[in-house]
Parts: sequence; structure tokens; C-alpha cells
Amino acid sequence: MGKLIKEDDNKGRLHIDTPLMGESLVSKQFLKTTESKDYFRMHPDINILKIGGQSIMDRGRAMLPIVDELIKLKEEYKLLLMTGGGTRARHVYNIGVDLGMPTGVLSKLGDKVSWQNAEMLSVLLAKHGGVKIGHGDHLEQLTMFCKEGYLPITTGIPPYGFFEHPAEFGSIPPHRTDCGAFLLAENIGARSLIYLKDEKGLFENDPKKAGKNAKDLKFYGKISVDELIELDLDDLIIERPILTMLKHSKCLKELQIIDALNHPEFIRDALDGKQVGTIIYK
Ligand code: ADP
Ligand code: MG
Repeated sequence: MGKLIKEDDNKGRLHIDTPLMGESLVSKQFLKTTESKDYFRMHPDINILKIGGQSIMDRGRAMLPIVDELIKLKEEYKLLLMTGGGTRARHVYNIGVDLGMPTGVLSKLGDKVSWQNAEMLSVLLAKHGGVKIGHGDHLEQLTMFCKEGYLPITTGIPPYGFFEHPAEFGSIPPHRTDCGAFLLAENIGARSLIYLKDEKGLFENDPKKAGKNAKDLKFYGKISVDELIELDLDDLIIERPILTMLKHSKCLKELQIIDALNHPEFIRDALDGKQVGTIIYK
């Protein structure tokens, strides 16, 4: 690939051999030949922590122990914080749904809330090196930011906007901040991806809706993505498109979901590679 070869015209001219030329880039057989044995990882030491919107940020002061923990952890680990949306995003989705807005419009309406949370977190962490960054060139500078002692924070929402995919069911944008954190972790070749939420991990159903029966729900401490897809649970603790993304991922091999709201100390354990919530692996 990229070799200089002689043109077949007896004039001895050289040109670059580029095997993708003339390909539709659709053929499954052809696409398999583009699989790399060893994908390049831009930020292999960065750990992405997705800070839940509804599960963490919306709790106000209750998230301060997490903030304290992050201040300590940033001295030992390279971290990127990505914020969720939460209740305010749900409210604007609800108004949009009521007005019959399509998915991409809802996506544009909701993305501001995740930014607002990034703003809030960067204010809380400002004197400790917290710095709000965008999705532009700064993402290539993450390792440098961390080496310089900063704690970068960005929105979890992926930049689909009007280009958001139609949802399988209904109209809520399927790729929200859990997906954004996943996509970035995969594409920068991050060391780990940890979701900070308010439940122990993945149960067979939402424990908040199970009432008295919550304690009887089956808990999944470690589960393969294939198994989870096969189970086809009605509700999940992370956004559903992540399952297919993990199945197809090149760099990221697993993710963990932890109850950081009630156990901020679990963040360190998860960074150390210990299972303290639910690990979904491929
Ligand atoms: P975040 O704000 O972090 O995005 P969400 O509220 O969107 O958090 O999603 C996490 C919530 O998902 C949990 O607090 C829990 O109530 C709910 N949930 C739904 N299904 C499940 C499940 N199968 N197992 C555990 N929690 C679930
Ligand atoms: Mg969510």
C-alpha cells in the first residue's frame, strides 16, 4: 500500500498504488481487507469517565464527594471527564416530542444541556486544573493537557445534531452522551471507559421501577456483549447502541458501569482494573 509502481504503458512512469481506487467501499469482502491487525491508539493512557447527567450531576451537592475523588485521582491517572444531560435534556425532549419534532431536531435541542453540565463541572474543578474543552483540535491534545496537570472536561453528546440516525422506536435521539463517551474512547484508543452512575450496575431490569422487588432482580457483574445482545433486555443502564458499537470496536475491549454516587471510592478501583460494578466485554 502506498508503493510506487510503474504504469503499464511502456513509458516507465511511476504512480502510487492505491488499492481503494475503483472500489465502492461497500463490498463486505473488500472491506474485510481493510481490517488492521494493530489499530493506532492516539491516547492510550487516557481514561474516560462519563459523569452521569440524571444519575450524578442532577443530584447537586451529593456529587461533591465524586468531585473530591476526581481531584485526588487526577494526580495518578490521566482523565477526561465527559458529561451527561439528565433531567433538563429530558424536559426539552418531552416538549419536542409533544410538538412532533424529528429525532435530529431533538438531538440539537438536548445537546446544550450536556454542555451546561460540562460548564458546571469545569467551574467546580477550575481551581484544580479543570478545563472545559470542545470537540475540535483539543481532543488531539488530551495527553498533553493531562501531563501539564489539567483535568479536561467535555460534553458527552456526539455531534450528530440534524444528522442523528432515526431511532428504532419513537423519536428520542438514540446516540446521546453514553454513546459519545464510547465513540471517543474507541477512537482515541483510550485506556479505559467508566460510566459513573447511581446504581450498582446492570440488572435484568431498572431497579428504580421494580419497587419492593428490586432486591430480587438478577445482577450481571460481568457479561459479554454477545450475551447481552442475546438477552435483549427491555431496559438498560447504558444507551443501547453501545452494544453494537462494542461488538464492532477495534480498540476498546470492555467498559465498566459503577455506582459512583454512593461509592466514589469505586472510581479508583475501576481505574485499577477491579470489577466493582458491571463490566461489559467483547
Ligand atoms: P445517566 O444520567 O448516567 O445517563 P440514566 O438515568 O440515563 O443515567 O441511566 C441510568 C439509570 O438507568 C439507572 O439509574 C437505572 O435507574 C436505569 N436502568 C434502566 N435499566 C436498567 C438496568 N437494566 N439495570 C440497571 N439500571 C437500569
Ligand atoms: Mg442516560
